[in-house]
Amino acid sequence: MLNIVLFGPPGAGKGTQSERLIEKYGLIHLSTGDIFRANIKGETELGVLAKSYIDKGQLVPDEVTINMLRSEVLNHKEAKGFIFDGFPRTNAQATALDQFLAELNTSISVMLALEVEENELKSRLTKRAEVSGRADDANPEVIANRIHVYNNETAPVKDFYQSQNKFVSIDGIGSIDEISTRLYTAIDNH
Ligand code: AMP
Repeated sequence: MLNIVLFGPPGAGKGTQSERLIEKYGLIHLSTGDIFRANIKGETELGVLAKSYIDKGQLVPDEVTINMLRSEVLNHKEAKGFIFDGFPRTNAQATALDQFLAELNTSISVMLALEVEENELKSRLTKRAEVSGRADDANPEVIANRIHVYNNETAPVKDFYQSQNKFVSIDGIGSIDEISTRLYTAIDNH
């Protein structure tokens, strides 16, 4: 299996690039943000809980997020591989992911980290708000909090994969095509 963690701060281009990667490599796309938003739309119990965190730019608690992702993975046992987009966002999530991939006799192949500096992220997210309809993109304070949470809680997950020799840094500035090519090269060389 080819299992990719597509990593990066909010606004780095994970969603856009995931679409390219799933097509090229035939992977199942699991975006925790998308799954939460679908639950919010469907007004499920999980959606109501997730919304209370997402609206503030905070992380949904690990236990809830891990259980949700675990059942999504187990629902796709036949997959050629997965692209994890927006997960793991904490070291506890990364540890849990290793454990349940081991249950399927597989593991993470590579973590691709899109690197984009903070001012560029803020301007991309503000622009994205005009089309995404996402409340968490429309409020500058929530954007700032999401970046803060990324720097404090999520960025350390890079070290988790670095220690397994699976971390690859990707320059996230450039055209969508240029960045896709960098990702393809990193995957094919891994
Ligand atoms: P995203 O679409 O990846 O930007 O995620 C939107 C929001 O969903 C985040 O700001 C978090 O509140 C929540 N979220 C998404 N993925 C996770 C995760 N792995 N752990 C905790 N919260 C998450």
